[in-house]
Amino acid sequence: MRIAVLSETDRAETRVAATPDTVKKYKALGADVAVQAGAGAQAGVPDQDFEAAGATIAASAAEALRDADVVLKVRRPAEGELTGAKSGALVIAIMDPYGQEAALKSLADADVAAFAMELMPRITRAQVMDVLSSQANLAGYRAVIDAVAEYGRAMPMMMTAAGTVPAARVFVMGAGVAGLQAIATARRLGAVVTATDVRPAAKEQVESLGGKFVAVEDEEFKQAETAGGYAKEMSAEYRAKQAELVASHIAKQDIVITTALIPGRPAPKLVTREMVESMKPGSVIVDLAVERGGNCEVAQPGQVVDHNGVKIVGHLNVPGRLAATASSLYAKNLYAFVETLVDKETKTLAVKWDDELVKATCLTRQGAIVHTAFQPTV
Ligand code: NAD
Repeated sequence: MRIAVLSETDRAETRVAATPDTVKKYKALGADVAVQAGAGAQAGVPDQDFEAAGATIAASAAEALRDADVVLKVRRPAEGELTGAKSGALVIAIMDPYGQEAALKSLADADVAAFAMELMPRITRAQVMDVLSSQANLAGYRAVIDAVAEYGRAMPMMMTAAGTVPAARVFVMGAGVAGLQAIATARRLGAVVTATDVRPAAKEQVESLGGKFVAVEDEEFKQAETAGGYAKEMSAEYRAKQAELVASHIAKQDIVITTALIPGRPAPKLVTREMVESMKPGSVIVDLAVERGGNCEVAQPGQVVDHNGVKIVGHLNVPGRLAATASSLYAKNLYAFVETLVDKETKTLAVKWDDELVKATCLTRQGAIVHTAFQPTV
């Protein structure tokens, strides 16, 4: 069994799909590991560290791919990136499959079995493989750090001989994994934190972290959680009530962190231009949903926008801003999944194609798109 770890071709990507620690674990599973030269450079892992862990360093992607049974990446391989891959190789990455028909077709045409880690079911057995959680957790933390860096004031209340500094008011919109970590981080820095979400279960979680929950708690709110624990898209009527509540609350905030997402849909627009204009100059908004269309109307992907003195931060790939930590958690998520695909006695790949985890994540196989949620429209 041979495992290839490729470098990322997207310039915005700093993470790497393996670490010396997981290389050792793959070796213990009976695999040979080839890491493309420089793959870990931006995550603080030099080639020598991979080599010391037992990997061989491949000079190019083609060399790493040669005879590889499993290919590990952070992002979906672009068209042509898998040239030379073995027929039937397992390619495992964050595939970002929604609305990507052409890209999925190209994976099918490459005759690989492509797995999307972000489709992993959120069941107990797969918690250790949950890349959405491991990466969102870091994004939530980093969003607060990025906000603080742009905010020209202190976060905690300070009583000094020269006067008292009030604590910053932080409002977190969307209290899932990222939002809850943002609440915890902002609280640790001494901010006064409020948060909102459309799922009733979020209320208790926000309060347990010392945040105050602010939401329209009507009948629709009580039903707003899917069986999988995700938010539903809310009605126009609910959105109007939510906007009214948010409008009066946001004007009093110093920092707003938005994290609201609905799986497979564009991010809900929660912060309008008028709301931004109601905030005090010097306030900061961090939009963690910017890659999915943004929660804030003014946010621009990859930019820090100044709108009437309010800074709107739209960094891309926020987990990648903590490349070493994000890589180490992502690599562990990947290892935990790969381990389930290997027969430990024979030390060979033995994919159980009817396993719940495999069925939920496998996008393409034997030249076709096999995932029921991503069947071609024509
Ligand atoms: P997510 O990234 O899909 O969305 C972020 C948050 O935005 C969610 O809390 C969502 O309810 C909220 N949101 C959506 N629309 C909104 C709107 N209009 N206004 C305000 N907020 C809005 O969510 P996530 O972080 O992946 O978490 C989703 C759920 O999955 C949570 O219940 C979480 O606790 C649960 N979860 C379970 C496991 C597990 O292993 N069992 C692991 C991680 C998360």
